[in-house]
Amino acid sequence: MSPKLQEFLKLCGGAGLFFTLITAMENTTVGTTDSWPKWTWLIPLALLIVSFALGLAGKLRDMEEKDYIKELGAKMAAQDKLSTSYPFWVVMRDVEHPTSSDYSDGRKRREDSWKLTCDNCRALSIDGAVLPDDCDDCDEDCFYDYRSVGTPDLEHGVFFTQEACAAYIKARSYAMGLNAHPYAFSAYFSVEMKAVMRHLLEQGDTNPDCYR
Ligand SMILES: [Zn+2]
Repeated sequence: MSPKLQEFLKLCGGAGLFFTLITAMENTTVGTTDSWPKWTWLIPLALLIVSFALGLAGKLRDMEEKDYIKELGAKMAAQDKLSTSYPFWVVMRDVEHPTSSDYSDGRKRREDSWKLTCDNCRALSIDGAVLPDDCDDCDEDCFYDYRSVGTPDLEHGVFFTQEACAAYIKARSYAMGLNAHPYAFSAYFSVEMKAVMRHLLEQGDTNPDCYR
């Protein structure tokens, strides 16, 4: 909960309490019930109760967040750091880069190769069959050679634990493809990341030097 909201709730609670007392006194001791209806004191009381309830809910949320951070720090310290200093994980995927046949580990048919295909492949295509990724009779320009290169997919952000990264990939396996996997990098040269990691480890009651 933001400090500003906390201050606001305190103010609402204080005002509610103050007016509850004032109106209760009006109704009981001073006896000006002619000017104020008897239920007037319920309004500030409601304000008091609502601000108290909101404050309590915010406190509980803050406590939950603190527990989560604590747990995260402990998990970071306990996980296999893969001999990496200040490790963090990203989604790694194999991306096919066009290359020459000397360096390739696969061959594929170009999608716009229709005009250059041989008669057999053309007939297959008309029948709705999947065309082979290589064919001696088709023109050479129908195909391209590629090499699969592991490439970090930073669109998905970074993770402090391998477990969270793997869970993220598993939950989105339908879109990630089979070759997506967690991969560890070192944040050793990032002063900001190192400071955050050390803070998290401390929150988990562990020695931050275990990440050195
Ligand atoms: Zn062909």
